[in-house]
Amino acid sequence: MECDAPCRAAPGIYAAGDVASWHNPHFGTRMRLEHRINATQQAMAAVGNLLGDAKPFAPVPYFWTDQYDTRIQAYGVIPPDTDMRIVHGDPVDGYFTTAHGHHRRVVGVFGWNTPPARYARCVAWSSNARRGRPSRSYPRSARQP
Ligand SMILES: Cc1cc2nc3c(=O)[nH]c(=O)nc-3n(C[C@H](O)[C@H](O)[C@H](O)COP(=O)(O)OP(=O)(O)OC[C@H]3O[C@@H](n4cnc5c(N)ncnc54)[C@H](O)[C@@H]3O)c2cc1C
Repeated sequence: MECDAPCRAAPGIYAAGDVASWHNPHFGTRMRLEHRINATQQAMAAVGNLLGDAKPFAPVPYFWTDQYDTRIQAYGVIPPDTDMRIVHGDPVDGYFTTAHGHHRRVVGVFGWNTPPARYARCVAWSSNARRGRPSRSYPRSARQP
């Protein structure tokens, strides 16, 4: 279902989750996400708007998935041609976190078995960088979880 920024498909009709594409004003583009977190957050936004909030739904996409003993997380929209840097861990050790830059802007953080606290710090750093707050460099690399 094609929706506008407040997730409205037609007067009095709102959609959320896999079935909904909507205009995300944070990115200035239409998107549709097949992620559990998005389905939950968008449903809450759509219900709020149905009840009169009239707020655009403008999330930075995030998903996690457990694949056997590996937890994969991604925050942001990460195109294939980003400048990727490992900011924590090492693939050889079975856990690592990468930060992704595109056109000199931070666009996302990817985690492979990244400990939750570490991933949260990287996401907070990435969010600040996206908003143009002082963040001259990628977070310092650290081999400890
Ligand atoms: C195999 C698999 C693995 C996944 N793993 C992950 C993961 O690791 N991480 C992640 O973030 N996302 C994952 N996803 C995606 C995630 O499950 C979906 O994005 C999420 O469930 C979407 O929620 P939803 O409520 O939009 O749709 P759904 O969860 O599909 O719910 C739609 C519901 O509507 C019902 N329905 C359909 N038609 C009708 C009808 N005509 N009348 C009444 N009811 C109807 C369906 O039975 C269903 O219960 C996975 C998806 C699949 C298929």
